[in-house]
Amino acid sequence: MTLFDDGFDRFWAAYPRRVKRDYAEKCWRKLAPDEALQAVILASVEAHRAEWTTRRFTPHASTFLNQRQWTDEVVAEPADARLPTTADAYGWCDHEPRCGTYAGHDLKLAREARADKS
Ligand SMILES: [Zn+2]
Repeated sequence: MTLFDDGFDRFWAAYPRRVKRDYAEKCWRKLAPDEALQAVILASVEAHRAEWTTRRFTPHASTFLNQRQWTDEVVAEPADARLPTTADAYGWCDHEPRCGTYAGHDLKLAREARADKS
């Protein structure tokens, strides 16, 4: 537990894509949301879950905070608009350790493909 509760722990627990915690915490501190804004942000995270169907479409917590994405309109895509990828079929990434970003995952797949050929 931190010395005082600024709401970050609650936000972090509710956020579906937990990467770069330290940076996200810095962004939270900078934003310094009061209780009313914290409630708005948490409600928005819940509302966005329908839209963030895969990690690929889920912004980093820091991005969500910096770009004030809780003010964004939530538009859930129809299921058939989403293009299935191999990574989706395997739960986004089956690497060990898991790739932090989709771009990093793609890069790794490309490297592996090249290594197989040589
Ligand atoms: Zn991967």
